[in-house]
Amino acid sequence: MPAGRYAPSPSGELHLGNLRTAILAWLFARTTDREFLLRIDDLDRVRPGAAEQQLADLATIGIDWDGPVVRQSERLPHYAAAVAELTAAGRTYECFCTRREIQQAATAPHGPMGAYPGTCRELTDDQRARRRAEGRPAAIRLRADVAEYEITDLLHGRYRGAVDDLVLRRGDGVPAYNLTVVVDDAAQGVDQVVRGDDLLPSTPRQGYLAELLGLAAPTYAHVPLVLNAEGRRLAKRDGAVTLSDQRAEGNTPQDVVAAIAASLGYTARTTAELREVFDATRIPAKPWILEPDGLFRPDRCP
Ligand code: GLU
Repeated sequence: MPAGRYAPSPSGELHLGNLRTAILAWLFARTTDREFLLRIDDLDRVRPGAAEQQLADLATIGIDWDGPVVRQSERLPHYAAAVAELTAAGRTYECFCTRREIQQAATAPHGPMGAYPGTCRELTDDQRARRRAEGRPAAIRLRADVAEYEITDLLHGRYRGAVDDLVLRRGDGVPAYNLTVVVDDAAQGVDQVVRGDDLLPSTPRQGYLAELLGLAAPTYAHVPLVLNAEGRRLAKRDGAVTLSDQRAEGNTPQDVVAAIAASLGYTARTTAELREVFDATRIPAKPWILEPDGLFRPDRCP
């Protein structure tokens, strides 16, 4: 059965923006006869106990999911197999650059901002051997043969973005997000990816990688984030931004769901009610700006 999903990184408590994205992902899946899966992206930035807290918060606001929660840390052989497949096809190379070297080279006048300039792409066997002997840990990069790739997004339409020789496995051996997300979504039957629009610029890379691995690209919907009054991504210092912060202020999970519903243009106090009225073609295109005291002021909501 086709599926949608939510895939948080367990780096801390989910904030209102994350909860809103999770509700949207759940609504998209549940209103299109899809299963809804939860995956914990726990290869990086893990805070002990955070995953359990995130799952509890999601359940509290009325999000349910199908099947067991998948953790990326349990799926390492699958990522290794994908890297091996690309390597066998001549599609990878070792990269010995430090972060600093890349930053310096990436500000050179050519190529898209932040793109890897290809320093290690054409190293000879000798040069590689020398770098290995120096003890430099090698990352594995994709040998991309396009500079751009186009994906289609339900909210953004056709979106063309840069593809560079992206990292598949970091120097410390940890598989990179752009690879793991592609491998996992395909393996889990995820054909609908709803997530924050901060990830839209990475999506062409993921679409290209999926194509190289012979995997079908999912349907994407990159939804607007919640921003603070200064227009920056919501953060802890913005006040009562988590469910537990809100509880401490006397607001129930239903109050929070109601505020998120209002930010989407609906009157509803539960995710079940929201599901009855949700229309995926009517997502506000602008970010939800959350004033310090704005959560329960309906005039603040679009
Ligand atoms: N784990 C990623 C994050 O929390 C999101 C992955 C995704 O939805 O593709 O930023």
